[in-house]
Amino acid sequence: MAEPSRAAELKAEGVSKSFGSFRALNDLSLDIGRGEFLTLLGPSGSGKTTFLMILAGFESPTSGRLYGDGVDITAQPAEQRAAGMVFQGYALFPHMSVEKNIAFPLRVRKKPEAEIRTRVGAMIERVGLVGHEKKLPSQLSGGQQQRVALARALVFEPGVLLLDEPFSALDKSLRSAMQAEVKRLHEETGTTFVFVTHDQSEALALSSRVAIFHHGKLLQVGDPRQVYERPASRFVAEFLGEINMLPVTGVHRNGVGTVAICDERPIRLLNGGDHVGDAAVLALRPEHITVSPEPKSGFNSITARASGATYLGNTTKLELRTRAGAKLSVAVPHETAALALGSDAVWLNWPTEQGFLLPGGGH
Ligand code: ATP
Repeated sequence: MAEPSRAAELKAEGVSKSFGSFRALNDLSLDIGRGEFLTLLGPSGSGKTTFLMILAGFESPTSGRLYGDGVDITAQPAEQRAAGMVFQGYALFPHMSVEKNIAFPLRVRKKPEAEIRTRVGAMIERVGLVGHEKKLPSQLSGGQQQRVALARALVFEPGVLLLDEPFSALDKSLRSAMQAEVKRLHEETGTTFVFVTHDQSEALALSSRVAIFHHGKLLQVGDPRQVYERPASRFVAEFLGEINMLPVTGVHRNGVGTVAICDERPIRLLNGGDHVGDAAVLALRPEHITVSPEPKSGFNSITARASGATYLGNTTKLELRTRAGAKLSVAVPHETAALALGSDAVWLNWPTEQGFLLPGGGH
């Protein structure tokens, strides 16, 4: 196992990047901790790759500073930063065997032959390619090629591994196998991983923290639970998964927390202090709502009428409409969906800790 102390700590301070008059990154500050698995998540064109290229040293920021282990590396070229890299289109050398591909970074660094052999052998074992050493990349499956790319990027024990959508060309089952592989490699090596994706479930499954990008800005950084359960904005809430938004009125504080009114019923909230007096919406993930024939409690229960259902295998997605006309979708057991579709009205209930307020206006 590599020394965790080898893992790099990175810091971006007020980084902006313009291409001509277009601003791809806008005043971005971010601390990346030693040994963490940080994912840059955002829609296409939000600036994730540009930021990764700046971390690698292939692009330089238009303004702002970059620090590696406390040292200003803003002007340091890519070869001196020596980050490991795995990109979707970062091809293996086609004329080199698996072992030669993996050995390449060590040969460039003029390591002794014996050391190269030991390290390459260990890496081949670690990524499960024993028996494939002599093959050319064209003789390997897509997943095996990505394993070679991971091995080649990790063999010289870089302080940071940068991964840009490495699995976007793989099919679903291979993709989840590779995700598990990357997670294991992160745990085993202790290296700092910075991973780019636009797939929110991949980000939530892999990362110790997720940084959400939108239009070149960093909107929120937090662990997967924080960003999913307590998104700071409507964009983050919607980007991370399905979310129901119900208008509320009369937001005010009492001794216990924040209370509000939704569809003439009292709602309790743990957060929401910031929204007192404002127009706000109550945000609820579909899986946090239960459907019942009677209200489960004197608060956090509203009535709705079922309007449609979609069979999803493990659950049914039930579409509903509240009395005030708001649309919701709820993940329920199949029998509950059948019951709701056969009733005039059902009750929707949720635990206080699962509801949160977001600004009522635009995004
Ligand atoms: P994707 O998920 O599609 O890769 P991304 O979030 O990684 O998107 P970037 O590749 O960082 O986004 O691009 C951010 C914006 O900067 C885009 O609008 C892109 O067109 C622009 N851009 C990136 N590189 C250049 C360049 N070399 N010249 C001009 N514009 C660029």
